[in-house]
Amino acid sequence: MISDNLRKVRQELQNSCALVSRNKEEVTLIGVTKSVDLEKTIELANLGVLDIAENRVGPFLAKKAEMQDFSKIRWHFIGNLQRRKVKSVINEIDYFHALDSLNLAKEIQKRANHCISCFVEVNISGERTKQGILPDELENFINELQFYDKICVVGLMTMAPKYSTEKQQHQIFGQLKSLQVEIAKKELSYALCTQTSMGMTNDFPIAVQEGATYIRIGTALFKE
Ligand SMILES: *Cc1c(COP(=O)(O)O)cnc(C)c1O
Repeated sequence: MISDNLRKVRQELQNSCALVSRNKEEVTLIGVTKSVDLEKTIELANLGVLDIAENRVGPFLAKKAEMQDFSKIRWHFIGNLQRRKVKSVINEIDYFHALDSLNLAKEIQKRANHCISCFVEVNISGERTKQGILPDELENFINELQFYDKICVVGLMTMAPKYSTEKQQHQIFGQLKSLQVEIAKKELSYALCTQTSMGMTNDFPIAVQEGATYIRIGTALFKE
C-alpha cells in the first residue's frame, strides 16, 4: 500500500535527519511516478506528496493535464531531456533536474518564457555512461550560464552508481554538497545554488545525512 510505504519512507527520512541533527523540514520528498499510472499518482498526491517527478515528456504532459485540480503540485522533470522536446515541456515544469550541457541551455533559453529553476547535473562518480558535468568543469559551466537569463540555477543534482557501497555514497553525496556550497558562496544572482537533489530509494538515507534538500523516490513508494 502506498500509504504504508510513504509512512516508512518518511520515518526513515526523519531518522536520517536525526542522526545528523537536521530538521526534516529541510528535505523535500519528491515522488517519482514514472513507473506508475495516473491513478497511483493521484493516490500519492492525495496522501500529501505535492512534489511529483516524471522523466518522459509524453506521460508527464498527460498526467499533468489530468491533474489540473491539484493546483499545488510542483512538477519536477528528471532524467534526460532531448533538445527537440524542450519546447513542449519546459514551460510546464517547476523544476528541471538534468541540465548537463550548454546546447541544452541554449534550447531552454530559446523556448522558455520565464526563468526556469534548474539543477545542474554533476557526474561525481565519473562513470562514462553517466550524464552530467564533471566536477572539474563545473565552475566554467556555471560561469557560462550567466549569459542565459532563462536559466536559474537553484542547485546541483547527482546520482550514485546503482551498485555502490555506503562509503562510496557518502563520498559522492558529500562531494556534491561541497560543490554546491562553494558555488552558493559566490552569491551569483543567476545561480544562487542553495539546493541539492540527491538520493533515491537505495541511497536516500545517506544522501540526507550528507545534506540533500530534495530526494527523488520511486520504488520505495510504489513497491507491492
Ligand atoms: C527513477 C529515478 C529516480 C527514482 O528511483 P527509485 O530507485 O525508484 O527511487 C530518481 N531519480 C532519477 C533521475 C530517476 O530516473
